[in-house]
Amino acid sequence: MAIDFTLPPEVLEARDRIRAFMQSEVAPTEAHLREKNDLRAWRPALQELREKAKAEGLWAPHMPREWGGMGLRPLAMAFVSAECGRQQFGAYVLNCHAPDEGNMHTLLHWATPEQAERYLRPLVDGECRSCFALTEPEVACSDPTQLRTRAVKDGDGWVLNGHKWFISGARGAQFAILVAQTDPDADPPQARNSAFLVDCDDPGWQIVRDIETLAGRGNHCEIRIENVRVPESALLGERGQGHRLGQYRLGPARLAHCMRWIGNAETALDMLVKRALSRELHGGVLADKQGIQWMMSESALELYQAKLMVLHAAYLIENKLEFRNEVSMCKHHVANTLWKVIDRAVQVHGALGYSTDTDLPDMLKHARSARLVDGADEVHLSRIAQFVIDAVRETGTVRRATGGEALL
Ligand SMILES: Cc1cc2nc3c(=O)[nH]c(=O)nc-3n(C[C@H](O)[C@H](O)[C@H](O)COP(=O)(O)OP(=O)(O)OC[C@H]3O[C@@H](n4cnc5c(N)ncnc54)[C@H](O)[C@@H]3O)c2cc1C
Repeated sequence: MAIDFTLPPEVLEARDRIRAFMQSEVAPTEAHLREKNDLRAWRPALQELREKAKAEGLWAPHMPREWGGMGLRPLAMAFVSAECGRQQFGAYVLNCHAPDEGNMHTLLHWATPEQAERYLRPLVDGECRSCFALTEPEVACSDPTQLRTRAVKDGDGWVLNGHKWFISGARGAQFAILVAQTDPDADPPQARNSAFLVDCDDPGWQIVRDIETLAGRGNHCEIRIENVRVPESALLGERGQGHRLGQYRLGPARLAHCMRWIGNAETALDMLVKRALSRELHGGVLADKQGIQWMMSESALELYQAKLMVLHAAYLIENKLEFRNEVSMCKHHVANTLWKVIDRAVQVHGALGYSTDTDLPDMLKHARSARLVDGADEVHLSRIAQFVIDAVRETGTVRRATGGEALL
């Protein structure tokens, strides 16, 4: 029987060590910092946690050992990321947070040895941060063939001009992976874009503002790029491969988001159930009410589906099998599960759930962005539909598009 849900001992060990670290170090520090309510205290406290994580060998779990990471593969990372997702800064403490985590994967796969030494090494070591710059205000970036940021060949280098926004982590980033049009007339249109490594201290890289969002300012910045000159060696991957690189990056990066969201949704369900068990009314507790039980059951069902879907997609990535449809399904399902479960937890907490006396409002505000980032819901739905249609046209059945031949 090929399917075996027994976890290999090394995956169990990594999960348990990281779970213990999150419970004994990260959770109490975060709780203390929240209580103290002093923004300046966060940075040094998180830095101290990062050093502890490194000292305990819990650093950059997704990176190979030869790069200083734990060498965990996508399936093991599913467990680790869910543990991280239970704390606000869990992934950052282990240096596997977005967007650096996705950028590390991208650099590992696409960078030349010189680029890897210059950009990947300090990123894995935690000496710098990075950002990924694709989205632009002027065009619908669900269709990145329309990008207006241009890279024009000039002598032995390139000159970049353009406008980006919602670039997460841009303030404080040392470098950006920037996607720009190099070949506006290329056919197919997917060959129009190329990716560049840009140093953020270039005077032409200008942060206009940290955009105020539903969840406050989260370092999602608007950037103007004016006459930024980069050498030919700044091209990441080949000319015209920007779209492919973006797709490659988004596969595992989307899944990593899903894994963290599962941890976050489970935290919300824990809160929902604990509140329902302790809130007394009509001679019993909220948990006795069928309406509340259904919220629990629906959340548990959705989380169970989410976990199985994520594990299957991680298995596909790990074994170098086709994964795009399954990752799209995961991204859509988990982002919506996160939103629904937190919303139900708010409901069960009553007025308390609407107050900032709990973390729920904060969790809900952040969860809303999950349905937009890394492809909006509708983009994934239309892609999934295309897989279904193609499957029927080519094979006469939807089976290939509903989890593949390896499933039922
Ligand atoms: C918190 C946050 C962080 C982000 N971080 C980054 C980052 O670090 N780097 C980066 O480059 N970008 C980032 N983004 C941008 C994000 O990836 C884009 O917002 C997203 O890809 C959608 O692009 P758009 O905003 O241009 O929306 P548009 O392309 O204008 O789409 C608008 C809406 O149209 C609908 N739509 C789109 N396509 C279809 C379709 N085929 N069928 C039906 N309906 C459709 C969807 O509802 C979509 O939400 C971030 C966004 C947020 C909110």
